[in-house]
Amino acid sequence: MKTYAYGFPRLGQNREYKKSIESFWKRETSKQELVSKIFQLEREIIDKYENSVDKFPVGEMTFYDNMLDTALMLGLYPYKTLEEYYDLCWGKSALELSKWFNTNYHYLIPEFPQDFSPSPQDSANKFKLLWNKPKEAFERYKIGAKRKSRSGGKGIPYMIGPFTFLKLSKGLKSKDFEDSLLALGAIYKEIIKDFPEVHIDEPALVMEISQVELSLFKQVYNEIGHSSKINLFTYYDSVDYLEILYSLPLQAIGLDFVQGKANLDEIRKYGFPEDKVLIAGIVNGRNVLRGNIEYYLALLKELSGYAKNIEISNAGPLYHLPISVKQEKFPPELSGKLAFANEKLEELKTIGRMVEEREPTLKNLEDFKHKIPQDIKRLKEKDFKRAVTFQERRKIQNKVLDLPLFPTTTIGSFPQTPDIRKKRADFRTGKISKEEYKSFIKTKIEELIKLQEDIGLDVLVHGEFERSDMIEFFAEKLEGITTTKNGWIISYGTRCYRPPIIYDDVKRKAPLTLEEIAFAQSITKKPVKAILTGPVTIVSWSFVRDDIPLPLVAYQISLALQEEVKDLEKAGIKIIQIDEPAFREKTPIKKRDWETYFDWAIKSFRLASSLSSPETQIHTHMCYSEFGEILEYIEKMDFDCITIEASRSRGDTLQYFKDINFERQIGPGVWDVHSPVVPEVQDMRQIAENALRVLPAENLWINPDCGLKTRGWKEVNASLKNLVALAMELRKDQFVES
Ligand code: GLN
Ligand code: ZN
Repeated sequence: MKTYAYGFPRLGQNREYKKSIESFWKRETSKQELVSKIFQLEREIIDKYENSVDKFPVGEMTFYDNMLDTALMLGLYPYKTLEEYYDLCWGKSALELSKWFNTNYHYLIPEFPQDFSPSPQDSANKFKLLWNKPKEAFERYKIGAKRKSRSGGKGIPYMIGPFTFLKLSKGLKSKDFEDSLLALGAIYKEIIKDFPEVHIDEPALVMEISQVELSLFKQVYNEIGHSSKINLFTYYDSVDYLEILYSLPLQAIGLDFVQGKANLDEIRKYGFPEDKVLIAGIVNGRNVLRGNIEYYLALLKELSGYAKNIEISNAGPLYHLPISVKQEKFPPELSGKLAFANEKLEELKTIGRMVEEREPTLKNLEDFKHKIPQDIKRLKEKDFKRAVTFQERRKIQNKVLDLPLFPTTTIGSFPQTPDIRKKRADFRTGKISKEEYKSFIKTKIEELIKLQEDIGLDVLVHGEFERSDMIEFFAEKLEGITTTKNGWIISYGTRCYRPPIIYDDVKRKAPLTLEEIAFAQSITKKPVKAILTGPVTIVSWSFVRDDIPLPLVAYQISLALQEEVKDLEKAGIKIIQIDEPAFREKTPIKKRDWETYFDWAIKSFRLASSLSSPETQIHTHMCYSEFGEILEYIEKMDFDCITIEASRSRGDTLQYFKDINFERQIGPGVWDVHSPVVPEVQDMRQIAENALRVLPAENLWINPDCGLKTRGWKEVNASLKNLVALAMELRKDQFVES
């Protein structure tokens, strides 16, 4: 059976991608050096494809992001130099970033200029083929092929499809959607007519799309489908209108059978046309666990009952995975069980061979059962509830905490300066002892407690100096989760992170945060707020074992956090914040799946906090996200206080809170910590006043909109002083008014 792979990570085994681009930014390398490095990475990926699979796209490489490249191809922005290209990526004229579907990759959102018009008569601002990127990439590939006299697989020009491009862009007037899509169709036709075969990604087809959009999609592909043989790829979920794709002039249709389980049901219903190839995405491109061969074989056997022509591929692009497991040391029980991108290519190759060689032993796909852990089986509805209502808790907590009106606090982290990173590195490599490292952290905590007292904050934090990052720190301490040394993945542009791997039952073998937080509380009379990372965020930013349903894994993490909460209470902690920045991000692509998601997401947050005593004030924190649509779900998490981003939207999001008559406490961030600017009291006051217009004063907290980890001490000092000054002013005003 033929194999087809796509989306191999561009980062390079040792993050060469990141390093070369960033050193160009710092002017340490020339443009020529950068270009040759990036093209070298491109060639290495092609070599890999050629050695493992029969078909693959050519032209996936980008200097930053493929949505940006598509916008440039189509003439949305004039640009000539690489410097101008990077101006669109970061700095003053940077485009906004947004989550790429339900993944942790972020793309640059193409934004249509005000005066844009798709109609051809209008000469002003319209689509034009400014850069034939697929052609350039294919030329490079052909030259390389000649030089090496390649004998491997076949490369096919790659592009993001016109529909996905438009769906994910912004600023286009909705009346212009139709004309724009048709105008794009004409340009795509122009591009693809030079190639016998093309690879087009249209992941937006898995969104819930309207009938109108669907018929436009049909129209465009009917128009361009005869200009070249199109392999159309969808992924991340299932396609609702398969039979419509069947009617289009396409050579092949790529479907995701891992994230898009419903695709199989659709095929059972509608079959698959004889004149097309089904590219069956079966190897999980979103998870690092090796697949089960018997399952693959059984699935392919079933599919071949419907489709005459099948090729197999990864399900979803491979760039959500690190490159190779080779350099990693994993716990022995994981030996042979993990596959990063390299190994997934191998897996594809193996399956391709095995299908030809033997019959599956698994007779029924449904026999592939999930395991349910013991500790989860025991859970009852009441385990997800706090004993006392939040209104009652409020009264009790007011007495215990005795905070002033407009209490001031921060989100948890303080600057992670080079000296801290250096000490941690020294400790990890054994250069300094555990005692030395711990006492260094304690000094940092002492200094910070003193500083916060001096500035006059009401609720203090310990600063999170001991944490490398909010996920990895917990992952390293919890049993059943492992971390990697070099398992980097691109989050956006050149920004990378290393997701931990949840591979076994998650347990807390020892307290996670207790030592540092209890220490901080022991040296001050003011309340210290403990900071934990929440279960939804931990599972969202990790690779999760797939033999247990995701919600149950999240519950296991909640049970571990529950024990932590108990221990913190015993140490005299009165306020505990459970961070859930991923709560919004993790929402499924299709709205009809929202209920199921929010049900377990809410329950896992509640489970983590359900055993806390009524005196303990539970906070949560979420970063910038569109709250409007999901506020009713957020409310069900049953926290006492939430801190959110509100500074960039100048507090406008708060209207939503009023709309649902939100009665809990809320800290709309008055300081945008993502910028180095020190906010003046007046700037922050505006946001607070906007908030006061829609929310009762006694519910309002004053705080920055996220952690201060990436800020410098100078700005932090000055900004926090202004923030406390603001709270003082507001209190005075309230006093005068009453
Ligand atoms: N407590 C974390 C911090 O302050 C929260 C980070 C986040 O929301 N992403 O850094
Ligand atoms: Zn945040």
